[in-house]
Amino acid sequence: MRTITNHMPTAELQALDAAHHMHPFTTNAQLGKKGARIITRAKGVFLTDSDGHEIIDGMAGLWCVNVGYGRDSMAEAAARQIRELPYYNTFFQTSHVPAIALAARIAELAPGDLNHVFFASSGSEANETNIRLVRHYWALKGQPERSVIISRMNGYHGSGMGSASLGGMVSMHEQGNLPIPGIVHIGQPHWYAEGGDMTPEEFGLKRARELEEKILEIGADRVGAFIAEPVQGAGGVIIAPDSYWPEIQRIVDKYGILLIADEVITGFGRTGNWFGSQTLNIMPHIMTIAKGLSSGYAPIGGSVVCDEVAAVIGSDEFNHGYTYSGHPVAAAIALENLRIMEEEGVVEHVRDVAHPHLAERWHALGDHPLVGETKLIGMMGSLALTPEKGSRARFAADAGTAGYITRERCFANNVIMRHVYDRMIISPPLVMTTDEIDILIDRATLALDEAYAQLKSEGLLKKAS
Ligand SMILES: *Cc1c(COP(=O)(O)O)cnc(C)c1O
Repeated sequence: MRTITNHMPTAELQALDAAHHMHPFTTNAQLGKKGARIITRAKGVFLTDSDGHEIIDGMAGLWCVNVGYGRDSMAEAAARQIRELPYYNTFFQTSHVPAIALAARIAELAPGDLNHVFFASSGSEANETNIRLVRHYWALKGQPERSVIISRMNGYHGSGMGSASLGGMVSMHEQGNLPIPGIVHIGQPHWYAEGGDMTPEEFGLKRARELEEKILEIGADRVGAFIAEPVQGAGGVIIAPDSYWPEIQRIVDKYGILLIADEVITGFGRTGNWFGSQTLNIMPHIMTIAKGLSSGYAPIGGSVVCDEVAAVIGSDEFNHGYTYSGHPVAAAIALENLRIMEEEGVVEHVRDVAHPHLAERWHALGDHPLVGETKLIGMMGSLALTPEKGSRARFAADAGTAGYITRERCFANNVIMRHVYDRMIISPPLVMTTDEIDILIDRATLALDEAYAQLKSEGLLKKAS
């Protein structure tokens, strides 16, 4: 077997990557020609690539490395668990300490009576579980026709057949005959792009009331659940107007349907509380968790379920589960992550230190000629690129052209900031210090300056007519 190491020349690693590695959400033929950026190491909030660049990670990996990279205690927790019990299943009337301890800890942290955890290895898997859980719950209650799940356009709930169907990404539905039957979508509360002449508050109410309209259209006795992210992440960090969530909660309560809060990004401190549902004052029956649960150090996710739903599901055999449900090593890593978060006061750090400083710097970017809007909640933010300040106009060029150019300038300036069409988004590690936030924003500003100059010189600062 040949050994492939960090010390090989970048071009060689890229060639092997192109030859054998199929990347997710990527046009692989195109990337193969250009060559992937290869990340070799990381410490704190900085990544190092194979050319030795030090890059500040404004995305916490993929919204997950909340406690930062290079934590020795996580390595030790993993090593300890691998030596003691690297694997055992939780199917046949057996359990093990890491799964027990992690479920109990999550129940302690979760709001209300969300006291029960069904483990998966990812957010996608957890949402597959949720679909089966909701439908089986209503079947056990003698209402099997209550199988429709309502979700939102431009929501993201994962990449499986069920979870991608829950999601509202048109580009995903176009591939593989999605959505699956019984999943329907309503509009998103994205005022900047879709609010027209309404005020944000009017628009928030309108979009919430689409839920009620949809329930009445389908028939309240056929709707099992509504699923939504407290804050849309992959859709572009879309923060709903203040009028939205109270109205959603009212509608969900009125029709007695289950509310699933997909907390895969917003869980574990991202919004300045342990869960986004607390920040937005909503009370879900089920929460989807993953990503920040282990800070990305191990693949683990789950469904956190309220007492009533758990009792009903528990009255029958639930014919569902994953080989790695509650995997002991992943659970031990997640427990260590939660210990770090508590001991270091990471949620308090977000609330009292990191968010206030980031808010000041992030919203100041609103003065930049390329920026039409800045939004931030806790440590997740977005900014809209604009061809014309003050108008919320779209670019004449294909959606995403300006965003892609800006993302390339971020890469060149050693800062990771992602683009969703023509919105730039950040979701940095929660432990980021104020000095590091300054580095992040200084580099982002340089990238915006360069992108602005490039868009101008290429004649792309034109608005759509
Ligand atoms: C990332 C994400 C998922 C999917 O999680 P995976 O671990 O990638 O399967 C689901 N929901 C939300 C809100 C996400 O951001």
